[in-house]
Order: sequence, then C-alpha cells, then structure tokens
Amino acid sequence: MSPQQEDHDAVVIGAGFAGLISAHRYLDLHPKASVVILDRNVHVGGVWSKDRIYPGFYSQFVLGISEYSDLKMRKPPREECIGECFRAKWMSDYLQEFAKKMIHDGKSLQDRLRRAEIVNVTRDQSDERRQWRISCRDLTGHEYDRTLTARDGEVHVGVSGRVSTKIYIAQKLIVATGEFSQPNIPHFRDHTKFGAPVIHSTNFGETEFLSRPEIKHVAVLGAGKSSADMLYMTLRSFSPDTQVHWIIREDGTGPGFFAPIDLPSPYQNTIESANTLAMGLIQPSMWHDDGWWVWLLHRTWIGIWLVSSLFGAIDTSAKQRANYHSRGRQAKERGFDKLDYSPGIFWQNSPGGMLHHKDFWDVVSARVIVHRAHIKSTSHHTLHLSDETSISCDALLLGTGWTTSLTFFSDELKAELGLPHDPTFCSSEQKAEWTTLETEADKNVLQRFPILSNPPLHTLKQPRTTPYRLYRGIAPLYDRTRSIVFVNFFLSGNMIMNAEAQAIWATAYLSNSPHLHLPSLEEQKRDVAMQVAWSKRRYLSIGQLGNFAGFDSIMYWDMLLRDAKAEGPWRARGTWGVRRPGDLGKAWRVVMERARKRSGI
Ligand SMILES: Cc1cc2nc3c(=O)[nH]c(=O)nc-3n(C[C@H](O)[C@H](O)[C@H](O)COP(=O)(O)OP(=O)(O)OC[C@H]3O[C@@H](n4cnc5c(N)ncnc54)[C@H](O)[C@@H]3O)c2cc1C
Repeated sequence: MSPQQEDHDAVVIGAGFAGLISAHRYLDLHPKASVVILDRNVHVGGVWSKDRIYPGFYSQFVLGISEYSDLKMRKPPREECIGECFRAKWMSDYLQEFAKKMIHDGKSLQDRLRRAEIVNVTRDQSDERRQWRISCRDLTGHEYDRTLTARDGEVHVGVSGRVSTKIYIAQKLIVATGEFSQPNIPHFRDHTKFGAPVIHSTNFGETEFLSRPEIKHVAVLGAGKSSADMLYMTLRSFSPDTQVHWIIREDGTGPGFFAPIDLPSPYQNTIESANTLAMGLIQPSMWHDDGWWVWLLHRTWIGIWLVSSLFGAIDTSAKQRANYHSRGRQAKERGFDKLDYSPGIFWQNSPGGMLHHKDFWDVVSARVIVHRAHIKSTSHHTLHLSDETSISCDALLLGTGWTTSLTFFSDELKAELGLPHDPTFCSSEQKAEWTTLETEADKNVLQRFPILSNPPLHTLKQPRTTPYRLYRGIAPLYDRTRSIVFVNFFLSGNMIMNAEAQAIWATAYLSNSPHLHLPSLEEQKRDVAMQVAWSKRRYLSIGQLGNFAGFDSIMYWDMLLRDAKAEGPWRARGTWGVRRPGDLGKAWRVVMERARKRSGI
C-alpha cells in the first residue's frame, strides 16, 4: 500500500518556541494558506512541552521577557518562582494556550498540529509549487508512546504497535526542530550487561525514577545545567544514605559554570539588564557598527580592562558561592574542588547556566562524590571508570547534551543548504573557498576585537562537521525560490524572543518581501564567513558550529529587524531601555502594515 500523502502551501517541522511563532507569523501574512505543524511530541512546547518537563525545571529567563508579543503570560504565584524565574510548567501551559488562541482562517495552531516523526526530507527542484517532500512516521493514535529511545545510534519515539508512513508535500518548509531535542546517548562497552535504568535528561520528566525505593546508588554523567538539575532533584528526593556520584569526562571541556540568578543589577534582575542595548555594546559583538564607543570599549586597554573586569566580577561571585576549594577535608576527599570551572563565563567554553537553588553547593559538597573520568564499560549495576574505580549504580542519569536534530536530510542536501555535514561531502573548490573567506574574516574579527585573540588555556571541543553556513543564521545561500528556513538554530540568550525575531525575518524572506533586502551572493558569503569566524573566536567550544551568540541577542535581533526595515519601534527604547517581546510585536506590525498597503487591503 502506498503511503498517504497531503499537499500544503507550508509545512512547519517542530512545535516548540520556534515552530509555533513561525507558523503564526507566516499565517498572519498568509491567512488562507494551508499550513500544518508536525511534531513527534504529544504536546506542543518542545523542550517546555508537558512531555518533557520535570518539577525541578525552572526557566533561566524571567517573567515579562519570556513570552511572545501576542499573548501575555499569566503571572505564576510566588511559590512557583525562584526570584523572577518560574517553573517550566507555566511555560508549558502558556505555549498550549498560545497554540489554542492563535487562530487564522478559523483554525488554531493546535488544530494544525499533526503528530508525526520526520524521517526523511527531499527536494524536487523541478516543481516549485511542490518542492519539499517530507516522509514521516505517522504517530496519530500513539499518545501513550512518548519516550525517545536510541537504537543503533538513531533516536526515535519508541512505539508499541505498528506505525504507518505518511508523506507531506510543501512549497515552503520551516524547519524548527531545535538544537536540544535529539538526545546524545553515549555508548559504553558491555552496556547490555548494566541492567539498571539509563535516563537521558530529555526523558527525565516522564520517569518515576524519583519515587523508586530500591534505588540506593545514583550516578549523573555530564557537566552542564541538565546534570546539575537532575543531581539536585536526586539529592532532594532520596534519603541521605543514597550515594550520589557526579561523573565529568576528563577529556571534555570540563565542569560547567553556574552563575547565581540574583547577581546585583541596576534593573529588576541581571537577565533583564542583558536585554538592553547598553549591555549589548559591552560585548565584542560582530554586529556593532564601527564607532568611537566600539573603539573605546574593544580596542583600547582601558575598555578591554573594563569588559574583562565586568565578567571577572561575575566569575568571582559564582566562585565565591560555590567555594570550591575551602569546604573542608571531607568535601575535598569527595572531589568537590574538581567542579571548579575554567576559563571564565565570558568565554562560554563549557556548558553551564544559571543556578536557581541557593543551597545547591552546600548539598552537593556535603553528599556528592565527584569523578573526572569517563565510563569505560559497565557490568551488572556497576560503572567502570577510566581512573580504574568501579562504582555501584542503580540508575544512570545522562546530562550528556544533544546532537543535531537535522537527521532527516541527506549529507548531500545538508551540504547544499549550508547545514553542518560531513566535510567529505564538500568539493575541494568549496573547501578552498570557505577556508579563504573564513581566514580573511578571522583576521577582521581579531583586528576589531583584540580581546578575542588571547583566550585563556582551554580544551577546545571541535565538531566533526562543517559549521552552519546560513545567511543571518536562517536562510540557505543557494535557494533561488526562497523555499526553506531554519528557525532557532542560531542561538542566543533568550530563545523565545530569538524565535520571534527570527520568525519575523523568516516570514518576510519566505514571502519575498521587497523590503527585506538581501545583498549579493558574494556579500552574503562574506557575512556568513564572518559569523562563523566570530562565533568560533568569541564562544570557543560552544561557538565552533558558527551558530552561537549567547550574550549578543540584542545586537543580533536589532540586525534582523533592520534587514526587515522594522527596527523603528525597537530602536525607540534607546540605550538603556529593556527590549521586551512587545517591541518585537510592534516591529511585526510595521511589516504587516506595509504588506497590507502593498496588497491594497
Ligand atoms: C532543560 C533546558 C532548559 C532550557 N532553558 C532555557 C531558558 O530558560 N531560556 C532559554 O532561552 N532557553 C532555554 N533552553 C534552550 C531551549 O533550546 C529553548 O528554550 C527552546 O526550547 C528552543 O525552542 P525550539 O523551538 O528551537 O526547539 P525545541 O523546544 O527543542 O522544539 C523542537 C521541536 O521539534 C520536534 N522535533 C525534533 N525532531 C523532530 C523530528 N524528527 N520529527 C518531528 N518532530 C521533531 C521536537 O519534538 C520539539 O517539539 C533550555 C534548554 C533545555 C534543554
């Protein structure tokens, strides 16, 4: 039987922050278009969906700047917040509400959602109206099958019964599958002998792990925020006689950095202050226009000293709270001092995040045994580490991060679209061209920002693939018909506002807006090369894929809105004003108003 097939004007893959707002913005401009949203989760929300959250998951952004412009989030009660950060449940509920309330042509975003797991996407360039062919496992009727399971290196929703294949054909394709949706599951020798639960943070919210009485020994593998969250919940849920190990690879980028959420700030909190142009200007950001203040802050010793001191103060505060080296003999024997991170937060070389719980370090230093080693092999309920220790373990929690979600494109198509791919798929001419462009861009980066030329000693994690080479982090360089965009693959510090800013640009692009000026191909390439060279220098290991701008959100969004000629309302906030989602909404209305006038509505 041939698979079922549906044709649509646009297909959106992914129903997280990025997919929902992209579908909504696209429909704002094309209300009659036939649009579907495909996602393998049962609920909308991606990382924040009901399928994934757990009680100890709190936002790292704060109320008021963590919503879309078209719907205000209800204020969670105080007991649901730590500072201005709130429990993930509130974001899940908010995104579900958004999906139900955003209605176009009588249909809500929720009505357009289809449960499907994408396995393959191909392109037919000969037919512009039916360019994209999306093959899925149709998960309709499998609402109880939710867990992602890894088999032979591939991660899929584990399904109890049969699934059929379904094909979606689309003229426009919006890819929004996220950088945090495909769990990275490491393989250990003899892993089949282990016999105890192995739970990745992606599935942590679904398991009943925290209420299992038989668990007496737990190990958490990984250095970043998800590991810290799972560790804290384990410590808080199990009795003090449960032994807890924190394992961090000795050959990786080292322990993560954890900044306190309550650092002093002239604004309501530090996260808000990061949403001002003033903070943007302090960053050595590739999107600065050259001016006297860029020269002063980034090319004079006094400016560089100022910027370094500001970040140095954050590190001092983070390290004082942790007190890695002076917590007494017993903490040292448990290896607590091995959690000290380097280089500093400015460089973002290792994974990290904001620390919500004030007693985190006290609890960890009192109870956790830290190992800097990798897991060599396993035997029955035991982990064998590279430092020759063996530890009993009734559950292994993996905070081992994520791999690319773009598994459904072939390497050839990835190379064509400018997505990370195996370098052997590049021709020698392409390799030479990018090497020349990126070398030139690198010189430019170092000349503009001397602070980046001399990073502290660090272990650099280099990817096995090429970097992202998308224009503005969103659009392929070679797509004459403007048929595909990638939303939220270029990362910044506030991913919901990032998604909305990118969705504005992406919609204008897909709609061939005459106001979205694209420079010549040569200029676009130089810009992409700059993006890659800058991201690599600025954010070391985390920037190696050329898609990270953690501290540079404001400058990046400003540039996207300038491209769409909609920066007016955004700019009106001046240097010191906090940019809020409503400002993106006002910018969008500029785009809409112009489109309306053009079409004479
Ligand atoms: C634990 C955690 C905490 C975080 N906290 C914050 C925070 O506080 N603030 C912040 O700004 N960012 C945070 N982030 C970063 C996070 O990436 C963003 O918050 C946000 O979720 C990104 O949205 P997205 O739509 O790009 O991707 P996602 O939320 O990952 O959504 C992608 C969607 O695509 C679907 N999908 C993927 N592959 C397929 C496939 N093959 N077939 C069908 N569907 C598919 C997934 O099911 C998912 O629903 C956090 C990330 C994690 C993991």
